[in-house]
Amino acid sequence: MQPAQFAVFGHPIGHSLSPQIHRAFAQQFGIALDYRAIDVAPADFAAAVQRFFAEDGVGANVTLPHKAAACALASQRSLAATRAGTANVLTRLEDGQLAAHNTDGAGMVRDITERHSVDLRGHDGLLLGAGGAAHGVAWNLLDAGVETLTIVNRSPAAADALADAIGEPARAHTRYWEDLADLGSFDLIVNATSAGVLGGSLQLPFSLAGARALCYDLSYGVAASGFLAWAKTAGARYAIDGLGMLVETAADAFELWHGKRPQTDPVYAQLRRQYS
Ligand code: NDP
Repeated sequence: MQPAQFAVFGHPIGHSLSPQIHRAFAQQFGIALDYRAIDVAPADFAAAVQRFFAEDGVGANVTLPHKAAACALASQRSLAATRAGTANVLTRLEDGQLAAHNTDGAGMVRDITERHSVDLRGHDGLLLGAGGAAHGVAWNLLDAGVETLTIVNRSPAAADALADAIGEPARAHTRYWEDLADLGSFDLIVNATSAGVLGGSLQLPFSLAGARALCYDLSYGVAASGFLAWAKTAGARYAIDGLGMLVETAADAFELWHGKRPQTDPVYAQLRRQYS
């Protein structure tokens, strides 16, 4: 019998760790699966996804730049996908239609609160970026007890749109990137920009990091190195990359597809050795 078919769609996708993570999870349960990385340009995304599911695909992860398109393709959306307007998981329903989920925010919060044992309640947070990933994590940070979330994006309209969508002006509001030096300090600084993966760097004032600051970059490896070096120099208490988030978000997808909760720590430890 052919093993169940899974895939991650992205463009580019060569860097994706998802196949390695899902194969490692599957091994924990003796599950046979075929998990492929599929590189598809935006214009071909919908057709490629439909073909994959028509040919017995069971579930797919979706990454840059297809997360909004994935959400739009589905006939059912989880609350997290609906709020974010983006999806990183697609699952085939019994009638052949697709369900969309967004596990980014839950995965990030679990990485912070469980793996790194940091209680987010009462934190004043700064969210840098207002793209798909920022949308994916903003609500979960507030749900985890972050007191206020200041959203700052290079293009202010996107930050305004995210704050409007959250609709809690007393807790989530925007400021201009040019004013970062005037904002005082934060307990939590989340870099949800793609500056690092695009080979750029952020020029951030050291005054942003308060004494107990947790600085978290959603990216990992070389892409996170500039922000994490800035955080350490600024005296942040924690400087954490997005590797743990990646493993946690994958675990949520795995559970949606297989109905079993994998152990994330051994897989995280294995990847950490690759990205030390
Ligand atoms: P998007 O393309 O949707 O958004 C990119 C964001 O980065 C925008 O807000 C953009 O601002 C901003 N940006 C890009 N370059 C710069 C720069 N030079 N200076 C300031 N801001 C910049 O990407 P995503 O939101 O999907 O992804 C963001 C990051 O999160 C990526 O590094 C991705 O790999 C990572 N990620 C990690 C996950 C994990 O599991 N660890 C999961 C999801 C994402 P503007 O609007 O002005 O263009």
